[in-house]
Amino acid sequence: MSFEQVISPRFDTLIDNAEYETDRPFRLGLFGGTFDPVHIGHLHIAERAREHYALDGVLFIPTGRPARKLAEGFSAAEDRHAMLVAATADNEHFDVSRLEIERCGVTYTIDTLHLIKERYGDRASLFFITGDDAAADIATWKNAEEIATLATVLSAKRAIPGDIERSLLHNVSHFHIESIDSCPIDVSSRELRAWVRQGRSIRYLVPDATYSYIREQRLYQG
Ligand code: ATP
Repeated sequence: MSFEQVISPRFDTLIDNAEYETDRPFRLGLFGGTFDPVHIGHLHIAERAREHYALDGVLFIPTGRPARKLAEGFSAAEDRHAMLVAATADNEHFDVSRLEIERCGVTYTIDTLHLIKERYGDRASLFFITGDDAAADIATWKNAEEIATLATVLSAKRAIPGDIERSLLHNVSHFHIESIDSCPIDVSSRELRAWVRQGRSIRYLVPDATYSYIREQRLYQG
């Protein structure tokens, strides 16, 4: 088996380590998103998923070209990646993957899951982290049923426009979605981008390091 492809700079060696082959698989949370920018809502659900499901680590995977956001546009992948690295640097259970941003073309969750499964094999159990809005949609994703065969899908409460009943969300697809016991935080990247454009402060809604990066790089101003 080839271990050449770096999936996670922090977790690859741990997962490749024989300790996990003999004892138990590394419980790895995978958190995909545009993260434009990463905010406290993302970090909170990653932390709660880690705690609630006893994950050994959570890997944030910023999308290269998000299939669902091609029309509206998004910031450069390197900026979104840098903001995530800044936001997660002080948490030893978090890491950021370049997997999707280094792949050409539109990225789909199922393809990423296959790549990760091929790379780690049975040494890792995969948990795919989403917010309720994304989970409600999951049946429409490419090869949706297969996603559930590769990873346990975890979903966190989110303030959803239109007040969709959350209990319904867990029945939308054929497969089981586990709930993350988290506190709903009504923040979205879209709203934060608009606030910066309007000259309103987003301090404390994003980690300090991310806030500094946005100011230094003058993101979301125009
Ligand atoms: P945008 O406003 O640009 O659509 P977003 O805030 O929804 O962005 P994404 O990067 O698109 O952020 O989201 C990645 C994942 O994080 C999705 O599964 C989404 O449901 C989840 N998520 C984002 N914000 C929250 C939040 N405040 N609470 C719970 N889940 C969230």
